[in-house]
Amino acid sequence: MKLTFCWAAKIVTGSCYYIETWTKKFLIDCGMFQWPKEVMRLNYEPFLFDPKEINFILLTHGHIDHCGLIPKLYKQGFTGKIYTTAATLDICDIILEDSATIQERNIEEENKRRKQNHLPPRFPMYTVDDAKACMKLFQAIKYKETIKLTDTIEAKFQDAGHILWSASIELFVTEWDKKTKLVFSGDIGQRDTPIVQDPTLIADADYLFMESTYGDRKHEDTAGKKELLIKYVDETFKKWGKVLIPSFSVERTQELLYFFNIIIKEWNFPAEKIFLDSPLSIKATEVFKKHTEVFDEEALHKYPNAFDFEQLECTQTVEDSIKLNTYNNPCIIIAGNGMCTAGRITHHLLHGLLNKNNTVLFVGYQADGTLGRHILEWEKKVWMMGETVTVNAEIAKINGFSGHADSEQLLRRAKGFTKAPRKTFIIHGEWNAQMTLKWKLEEIGFTCDIPSLRDNVEL
Ligand SMILES: [Zn+2]
Repeated sequence: MKLTFCWAAKIVTGSCYYIETWTKKFLIDCGMFQWPKEVMRLNYEPFLFDPKEINFILLTHGHIDHCGLIPKLYKQGFTGKIYTTAATLDICDIILEDSATIQERNIEEENKRRKQNHLPPRFPMYTVDDAKACMKLFQAIKYKETIKLTDTIEAKFQDAGHILWSASIELFVTEWDKKTKLVFSGDIGQRDTPIVQDPTLIADADYLFMESTYGDRKHEDTAGKKELLIKYVDETFKKWGKVLIPSFSVERTQELLYFFNIIIKEWNFPAEKIFLDSPLSIKATEVFKKHTEVFDEEALHKYPNAFDFEQLECTQTVEDSIKLNTYNNPCIIIAGNGMCTAGRITHHLLHGLLNKNNTVLFVGYQADGTLGRHILEWEKKVWMMGETVTVNAEIAKINGFSGHADSEQLLRRAKGFTKAPRKTFIIHGEWNAQMTLKWKLEEIGFTCDIPSLRDNVEL
């Protein structure tokens, strides 16, 4: 068989691997490039394969960098099945529609400018109709269930512990009466994170495709994240300020809500309002409530109904969101997007950065060049929404909320293999992270390769 690294090679986003066997052509993930802008342009390039010829997709999880180009594939003629877990299906349902809505809105704005300059209109990569229509191709499967895709191809999804119902995929391909096992790690979560189960250890593979997002870093404050949350909120409330949290809609937001619920219940914390100001996050939280069947023990038994508490107020409409600008009591506002490049958080920052009593609390990775990164680097003035804004607010960050395993955890997973795979491909990471992980894996006897974009290998 032949495998092509379409994307997510030497970069973090745009996960997609194209596999050709004797009889079938299929993909593992079909993700979108997210940041920086130069990389995002790749979204508009033609696929490295004919979408009409793709027989099926195996999808690891519902983050946009893993599923975001499925509607584009559908629009260009893909009609096969998309196998994934039940909650991933529900997450894709909301996240792909949201992605299409943003594209349609942005193109509409751009076309107004183009019309003034007598330029022809542009079109979105895909529309809301495409996003809705491709959902009929999804088929939900369970963890540990063997899916017989053809007489010679089988797959099994295992819990990756990254977001709700995220998966690592074991793929079995038989050629010349010889069975070859490929393991795609997907995004691997940390151990002992709330709500989701710990990642399932996989002990053998002929070929391993290993993510490396944090291949060169160790999460420092994982154990103390609850305490840090309390500290930052407490300090801000004492100054009668607001805590503004830019957050990713799927998983990070729910983890924050889960912690706030515990803190309020167990630490006798001031019961000020927590506003969830993001329609996408509100919908994603509903998906979590629907899929409690995969919650970990603590979430299931000790803190059931973790996302329903008195202090939590969900602001659906733009009008309700705008009202928060004149809300004069201490409060917590969780809003997207996570890197402050768009969304309601930008409005809260525009109104809140000047006030030294407020705190902007980052709980996720801020890519180079994003507004979030500029603020996090303590720039005293930032350019946003067409104006220069002075940053007087406190700036804080908690690293431990990462949804990705760190270098030690990745290495521990590799050590769980009974025998080193024939070859390990280090994917889904920036150069330093990949090189560091390669070096660490080679120390324990692995043979590694760092593929480039569009490389292909015979397996
Ligand atoms: Zn992910």
